[in-house]
Amino acid sequence: MHPCPHCQQPTFSTARKVLLLWLGPGLCSACNKPAFIPLRNVAIAVFAWVILSWLLIATTFYMRNVLFLLGSIPAAMLAIDLWLVRAPLAGDLDDDIQH
Ligand SMILES: [Zn+2]
Repeated sequence: MHPCPHCQQPTFSTARKVLLLWLGPGLCSACNKPAFIPLRNVAIAVFAWVILSWLLIATTFYMRNVLFLLGSIPAAMLAIDLWLVRAPLAGDLDDDIQH
């Protein structure tokens, strides 16, 4: 579980945290304040995934084996885990700018 940025209670599960990406800020079940994943972390994760995917595309051509393209899926999961799941939740836009 991940702590809320306002009350520090571990109210956000990993699955819910990943969902915050698509659904926007989620409300803490303890203090009812919104929390979201910092935009900076989303940008880093997408950037890392694009770079990894380009490397996989290059490897696919080099090795002449299309199976390397499937590596894009674990690459996306790795990027989500490293930069989104492990990132601290932000409580408001000021947090986003300061960190
Ligand atoms: Zn809270």
